[in-house]
Amino acid sequence: MNMRSSDRAALDGQISSLCSWKFKRIKENATYSDYGSATATDDLEEIRKLPCSYKFHFNCVDQWLHIISCCPLCKQDLPR
Ligand SMILES: [Zn+2]
Repeated sequence: MNMRSSDRAALDGQISSLCSWKFKRIKENATYSDYGSATATDDLEEIRKLPCSYKFHFNCVDQWLHIISCCPLCKQDLPR
């Protein structure tokens, strides 16, 4: 085995075509006014959604997809 990505790795274009968005964690006792006044960088997480609808942290799943282009949970392949 070597460290090159295999032919099962996702292509950059495949990964970037997946749905992703920034998700703001809301504190349990936060009100809408707290939410509105919070700074934009507070508790932001980037989330990526795979075609099977599982969601993962952007950074975590991208590392995975650069190794193998399938869902870490249900193993469904990404569409080519
Ligand atoms: Zn899945």
